[in-house]
Amino acid sequence: MKKKIGLYIHVPFCLKKCLYCSFYSEPVRPEQLLVREYVEALNIEIKRAADRADEKEIGTIYMGGGTPTLLSAQQLASLLENLNRHFHLLDDIEFTVEANPGTIDREKASILRTYGVNRISLGMQAAQDHLLSLIGRVHTYESTLRSYEMIKEAGFENVNVDLMYGLPRQTTKEWLHTLKEAVRLDPDHISAYSLFLEEATPLAVQHKRGETALPSEEEEELMYDQTEDILPSRGFSRYEISSYAKPQKECIHNQIYWLNEEYTGLGAAAFSYADRCREKNINRVTEYLFRIFSDQSAKDWQERLSLENEMGETMMMGLRMKRGVRFSYFKDRFGQDLLQVFGQEIAYLQELGLVGMDEESVFPTGKGFRYNNAVGREFVGRQG
Ligand code: SF4
Repeated sequence: MKKKIGLYIHVPFCLKKCLYCSFYSEPVRPEQLLVREYVEALNIEIKRAADRADEKEIGTIYMGGGTPTLLSAQQLASLLENLNRHFHLLDDIEFTVEANPGTIDREKASILRTYGVNRISLGMQAAQDHLLSLIGRVHTYESTLRSYEMIKEAGFENVNVDLMYGLPRQTTKEWLHTLKEAVRLDPDHISAYSLFLEEATPLAVQHKRGETALPSEEEEELMYDQTEDILPSRGFSRYEISSYAKPQKECIHNQIYWLNEEYTGLGAAAFSYADRCREKNINRVTEYLFRIFSDQSAKDWQERLSLENEMGETMMMGLRMKRGVRFSYFKDRFGQDLLQVFGQEIAYLQELGLVGMDEESVFPTGKGFRYNNAVGREFVGRQG
């Protein structure tokens, strides 16, 4: 039987960098030659990777960034056509493309549908323009609404909206309003992230200089509670720390990461994971182009995980999900008994009320969801 894996395709371009963003992406104009060359190079990498993945079937594709929908309709079509032509995509594939409001139009939405994309993740973030502008987003709430409508008109039946709380000057009233607006759109999935100030991002620098006021810890806790109150009461159940879904609409691709399973990443800065080996493609687009066009590997580095590392990471990631880690899954995958390997850590976390256990699995409690970093640290701390 062929092995089923996920594919991640990175499009490292944005119209403008958001002030909090630490992902690798370059601000570009969509018509720039660099963008055209990147699509050409990515098509070459797609073909090469497909030749190597002869024995594998693709169960999920996630095209993220950056802003994939900044590509023209023709560029999107050429990437999608190549993915369809070269890889063995399963009939029930989940195929997601990330879209930013204002960068998707009817033509692009229809091209995505035509080539089998069946899930869109839209970066709404907030329903207040002054907040969007404070974090450097290029769109308005009005453009979120227009983009959402276009996506629905194109026939997408699986749509996620991304939201962020803990934004500069955001009030709990505003967050509540954002949650209600997102629910009113009636998506299938909502991801609600708290803003994390990554060092050296413009927003972190502003904050250090005292130029940006963030919500207090109490306010942020309240926003967390509001999320927990509103979304489940409107039919979105929380299945991962930041992810809420209507029934059967959990993101399948992201579960590959949380299960710590195999995926192939293509494009500049993309990660891959297989056979206990993590690899990353080179960041800089120009270097990526040079490597691909001169028939060299785009890999920047790779690290091989020990069995202990992989077991620890599998626990750390698995305990992000409500369902946690099943004993049978752990045994089948590693040939070892979960409680024999991690019995001490689990007992400690149980004592703290961060994880629970039944006869099938170990899983995070409500408190464990809230303090998930503390849960994860118990397992990756063992890595040498
Ligand atoms: S759109 Fe996304 S990837 Fe691009 S700068 Fe903003 S947060 Fe970063």
